[in-house]
Amino acid sequence: MTMTHQPTDIIGTVPAQLFIDGLWSDGESTFPVYDPATGDELAQVADANAADALRAQSAAQSAQAKWSHTSPHDRAQILSRAAQLVRDDRERLATIMTLEMGKPLAEARGEVEYAAKFFQWFAEEAVRIHGNHALSPQSRNHILTVREPVGPTLLITPWNFPLAMGARKVGPAIAAGCTMVFKPAAQTPLSSVCLAQILDEAGLPSGVLNLVTTSKAGEVVKPLLEGGAIRKISFTGSTRTGSLLLEQAAKTIVRSSMELGGNAPFIVFDDADLETAVDAAMAAKMRNMGEACTAANRIFVHETVREEFTSRLVARFAELTVGNGLDEGVDVGSLIDEAGRDKVQHLVDDAVAKGASVLSGGQPLYSPGTFYQPTILDNVPDDAEILHTEVFGPVAPIIGFTDETDVVAAANDTEWGLVGYVITRDSERINRLMNDLEVGMVGVNTGIVSDVAAPFGGIKQSGLGREGGHLGIEEFLNHKYIAIPAPGMA
Ligand code: ADP
Repeated sequence: MTMTHQPTDIIGTVPAQLFIDGLWSDGESTFPVYDPATGDELAQVADANAADALRAQSAAQSAQAKWSHTSPHDRAQILSRAAQLVRDDRERLATIMTLEMGKPLAEARGEVEYAAKFFQWFAEEAVRIHGNHALSPQSRNHILTVREPVGPTLLITPWNFPLAMGARKVGPAIAAGCTMVFKPAAQTPLSSVCLAQILDEAGLPSGVLNLVTTSKAGEVVKPLLEGGAIRKISFTGSTRTGSLLLEQAAKTIVRSSMELGGNAPFIVFDDADLETAVDAAMAAKMRNMGEACTAANRIFVHETVREEFTSRLVARFAELTVGNGLDEGVDVGSLIDEAGRDKVQHLVDDAVAKGASVLSGGQPLYSPGTFYQPTILDNVPDDAEILHTEVFGPVAPIIGFTDETDVVAAANDTEWGLVGYVITRDSERINRLMNDLEVGMVGVNTGIVSDVAAPFGGIKQSGLGREGGHLGIEEFLNHKYIAIPAPGMA
């Protein structure tokens, strides 16, 4: 074992309270957080109600003016310190993430580094917030554009990447000079509590980040979105919830960034290098047990290489060890909860009933805990539900194809448009597909597109806006245009 702490000691290091205006406090009640690998209760966490959320909002509102006038350098320093503190705390953070979410410790460690990189990246962006100048051709005014923080923000994160999704939103908000109310998912609040702890230690002033853990997301968020004080929402989660929040945000015209669902096509052409194809498929499908919006959801394989690709994939799946993410050597941890596992089983059963064949897996594993066997389904028919919804589990549905135009049409035949993967050695084909796929991101001969330096986001019902890269901070900044007559002009 490489674990340096026992799980029970570690949970004791997490306050499990609300963090509002620089103070930790209990809520009126608590809610339980479970370890999905064992079903054991890990902690009782403060359960914010609407009144707590409004307190958090007031703290963010009061802190906004002073915070927006801090120097970019000071904000960058806080983020740099936070990046270092995250790295120094790697084992504790990774263990907490594995405990509350189920992912293998090795992946959790990778996510700790990914979160640190977001803080580092936005520390570097904080000192590069640029406006613009032009001279008007007609009136000879100076056209000056300055950038300002949008104001108090509401950040809502999902449970699948509890630390990185927090850092990806909190980082640019701090860099831009925005205060925030941060509401993490109820399944994984402990990682977010750790982020608040770390930012406090890094010197973030009171009231800039206010954390409300809650089991009553709807009750807590609606009054914030409709109240008029919150000027921006950055949400990552399902398209259903995103759409509901956009309706609420419409009431007071809250600027909105939405990272929503995906239904990623993964296309293997007949000229593909099959080792590359299998490596990319393993990464795109099995990372985070398939619980990622970027997960390969529909694997289209050219008929001439389908048998070879499929048998190589089956061999790779057979090497995977499923188990408690805390155990050494585990590749696939537990799914988030029973509902998540039951949904996966339902999708597999539905596909099989409609004619798909199971090449490996197809069943839940172990009890207690919500594990599912790595599963490959071949010949998945078009009417199978699994091709039209996010799987969020370790199931690879394979569909054969013969024609490029047809496969592109099939890939685009979805309301989502987050990411698409293309495996081919033909540069002209790459050129065509990077143009023709209706997505926000394309992976060419790779199964991983996430990168702090790249603009992450989708089109269609996969969302609005981009996170990370140079565009990430833009989401938290307004443009203000100032007209000043140029000297000597009437
Ligand atoms: P999932 O189904 O994967 O849990 P959700 O979209 O429901 O995805 O959850 C993503 C985030 O949205 C979580 O933080 C969750 O608590 C929050 N959420 C869910 N429902 C609402 C709601 N009605 N209002 C505000 N936030 C919500």
